[in-house]
Amino acid sequence: MNFQKTHIGIIGAGIQGVCCGLFLLKKGFIVTLFDKDEPGDSSASYGNAGHFSPYASIPLNRPDFLTDIPAMLMSSTGPLALKWNYVPKMIPWFLKFIKNCSTKNMMHTAKYMHQILDLALPAYDELFEEIDISGLVEKKGIMYIWNNQNLKSREFEINVRDKIGAEQQLLNKQEIHDLEPNIKKIYHAGVFYKKARHARNPKKILLKLFDLFIKKGGKFKKNNIEIINFSNEKPIIKSTENSFNFDKILITCGAFSKKLTDQMNEKIPLDTERGYHIHFKGYDHLVSRPVVFLNRAFGMTPMEQGLRVVGTVEFGGLDNPLSKSRINNLVNNAKFMLDGLPQHEDEWLGFRPTLPDYLPIIGPSKNYKNVFYSFGHHHLGWTLGAISGKIVSDMIANENTNLDLKPYSSQRFA
Ligand SMILES: Cc1cc2nc3c(=O)[nH]c(=O)nc-3n(C[C@H](O)[C@H](O)[C@H](O)COP(=O)(O)OP(=O)(O)OC[C@H]3O[C@@H](n4cnc5c(N)ncnc54)[C@H](O)[C@@H]3O)c2cc1C
Repeated sequence: MNFQKTHIGIIGAGIQGVCCGLFLLKKGFIVTLFDKDEPGDSSASYGNAGHFSPYASIPLNRPDFLTDIPAMLMSSTGPLALKWNYVPKMIPWFLKFIKNCSTKNMMHTAKYMHQILDLALPAYDELFEEIDISGLVEKKGIMYIWNNQNLKSREFEINVRDKIGAEQQLLNKQEIHDLEPNIKKIYHAGVFYKKARHARNPKKILLKLFDLFIKKGGKFKKNNIEIINFSNEKPIIKSTENSFNFDKILITCGAFSKKLTDQMNEKIPLDTERGYHIHFKGYDHLVSRPVVFLNRAFGMTPMEQGLRVVGTVEFGGLDNPLSKSRINNLVNNAKFMLDGLPQHEDEWLGFRPTLPDYLPIIGPSKNYKNVFYSFGHHHLGWTLGAISGKIVSDMIANENTNLDLKPYSSQRFA
């Protein structure tokens, strides 16, 4: 079909928006991308751990997790934290989260995360063919390790991954040491995901993809979009100063998407899991690949900026300030794993966009046929950038994807 007269506006230039833009341009659409900031400046797509993790289909809502929550919240080394002033606002989200902790619901999410995760790397390869990523994407796998506590949970995860067909290689102590000799021997065992990759600088990759988008004829406008209206079913999007008309629009604002979807008369329970990073500049040589210590749920990724230490799931909304205690938690955890680290730098807080069933929303709005969504990719939005863009561009072009896309529809919250 000829889409050369169909003008699409994409709101949000994180990894979702940029990848969607590229796949839409490939089909011949005219595309304008909007962001309130310069692309990659402050988004989750800038500060993440850089994992391309096609194996990571098990959601956080799972039967064993519920019983672990109180201990995790009490622990000063653990990954979970709350901003108490935000708890009342989040109660409806928590209730939906708990409902999704049944084995049946967890397996549903795992199955449909696996469906798209399995296609994530080939979809990126289609985009990476057109940019120079040398030195920016490493194919050295990703390693998770754990100590001898909570071994039942580890067994559970291994079994679920086996059931859904996610590739994994179990590691003993010696194998962990052989792969990452600098990690202190605090571990009992681990798992290695050989096909996983990592970004050495997510922002640089995002900007390369953005430059490709512009080179291929995409337009960018720096505007904070506040209002969506319609004229004859066609969307009109507005910032304080400007107004723009489109045939169709796509909302890819990550954790900020709810401000716009609420205007579409949809009660989408999007919230955020706040996450943090710090850098130990010049110390990326201490590990060869991302290493995650599961008992404390934090990770270390060797990047151009240094050793990036990433973690924490903090429930506290979009407006609360950064928590110094969570930064200290990352510093202490990194030093628990590695000797000789210097003073850290670059304290960063980012917002994972998370729905209470841990599936993203990819597809049309429930009420407006010319409005599409791609957001809510929680811990995996970096991995799922290209594949979500590919799927949503097929949907907008009315083409068959041969995938079961119903589970990602916003209708599930109707
Ligand atoms: C600490 C941390 C570690 C992570 N690690 C990983 C990882 O290793 N692997 C992985 O796969 N995922 C990871 N993630 C998750 C991943 O980073 C996110 O899911 C993903 O970046 C979300 O991309 P996005 O494009 O949807 O949103 P964002 O990257 O947040 O982009 C949204 C964009 O929309 C813009 N915007 C918002 N509102 C408006 C508006 N009204 N008008 C105009 N523009 C607007 C924002 O400025 C922003 O640029 C991590 C996240 C965090 C926080």
